[in-house]
Amino acid sequence: MSERKITLSEKEIPERWYNIVADMPNKPRPPLHPGTKEPISPDMLAPLFPQALIEQEVTTEKWVGIPEEVRDFYSLWRPTPMFRAREFEKALGTNCRIYYKYEGVSPAGSHKPNTAIPQAYYNKQEGTKRITTETGAGQWGSALSFACHHFGLECEVYMVKISFNQKPYRKLLMNTWGAKVFASPSTETEAGRGILAKDPDSPGSLGIAISEAVERAAQRDDTKYALGSVLNHVLMHQTIIGLEAEKQMEIAGDLPDIVIAPFGGGSNFAGLTFPFLRHNLTEGKNIRCIAAEPASCPKLTRGVFRYDFGDTVGMTPLIPMFTLGHNFVPSPIHAGGLRYHGAGAIVSQLLHDKLIEAQSVPQLECFEAGVKFTGSEGILPAPEATHGIAIAAREARAADLAGTPKTILFNLCGHGYLDMAAYQSYFDGKIIDHELSAEEVQALIDQIDTPPVG
Ligand SMILES: *Cc1c(COP(=O)(O)O)cnc(C)c1O
Repeated sequence: MSERKITLSEKEIPERWYNIVADMPNKPRPPLHPGTKEPISPDMLAPLFPQALIEQEVTTEKWVGIPEEVRDFYSLWRPTPMFRAREFEKALGTNCRIYYKYEGVSPAGSHKPNTAIPQAYYNKQEGTKRITTETGAGQWGSALSFACHHFGLECEVYMVKISFNQKPYRKLLMNTWGAKVFASPSTETEAGRGILAKDPDSPGSLGIAISEAVERAAQRDDTKYALGSVLNHVLMHQTIIGLEAEKQMEIAGDLPDIVIAPFGGGSNFAGLTFPFLRHNLTEGKNIRCIAAEPASCPKLTRGVFRYDFGDTVGMTPLIPMFTLGHNFVPSPIHAGGLRYHGAGAIVSQLLHDKLIEAQSVPQLECFEAGVKFTGSEGILPAPEATHGIAIAAREARAADLAGTPKTILFNLCGHGYLDMAAYQSYFDGKIIDHELSAEEVQALIDQIDTPPVG
């Protein structure tokens, strides 16, 4: 039999998360207070997050233990499988070896529960009653609803309006896990009402939805906020993906030359790549780590490295990030999870220091790659995940042309079985490419009035 699937036993679920900050040559710059523009102290985050997560946000410890209760609940779906994509290799006609780590086996269908579970756990431990959050495509909202339900917490989700309308099943899944879901911008919050007054037809954005969720959490003592990406502790929780993948590559007797993941705020990218990047930082290895972002939201490839708000209204701390400006509302592409104006501080610093790479992909190339993948490997990828597949196909082609076949690993970060409307658009010929012109990008950058980074 040709080996396709590389599995680990429950006992091999990692016992610690990896914190790349410990190994970074240049540490990420501190977040700034949105008003004073001075570095914020961790306790200023206390109204929004439990203490344990604030500590994880700023820690420089290299390894952080995973609580036994979290590890135990992870075993509901972890370790996740890794596959050698033999059929996809054939479909591409490549000499490269392609592997993928499949996070779609989680109950919510993506990597998001890897952080939703510990976030709900620490909140529960510290007496939180309700958690608010935003969601783009609905993946994060589902994951947090699932986690809150398990730990007996209430969950309130602000869902980007375009996705709310495109993805009714995601909303219903959240409702099934007991969450309340609002289309954002909503009339529930001041932030939402403000946006609606200016633009009643606003399709919404992750930045707007974050403003709404943060506003709600700040109003009540028993309510905290949770973020599904961008922040340091979120990226750290996701490293369980790459730590498992490292063991699986070892079992396969292979080592990746190139590791690829789709990029929204950076969590699944960090999750898969950081444990591999660690070998570059500490042992002088040379594994290429590539973030795959949509051409319609190209903050890593065409944005600037600046301090910027995490949200649209300007309520969150200023984070040093690659950004197109917090006012940027990306066109309503189908990969809702990748429609975010900025990137996390750690990933941005790594990109600035040229320790990782980024490439952008147009929507059509993504769907073509996604359909080819489904036709060969069988699994139907989330529209977000197709970005990683498209870059894997590009890199395989480039390696073949250069006559130097490579070992490529990518993150299949979620399945797309609740995203069939996106595939319908593709089959109906309604998917179009939205590439920003040089003038549009320049106009966005000119609008940024937040401080430069150090
Ligand atoms: C949320 C999500 C993303 C984007 O978020 P990251 O933090 O960049 O990982 C990508 N793919 C899927 C399937 C998602 O659910």
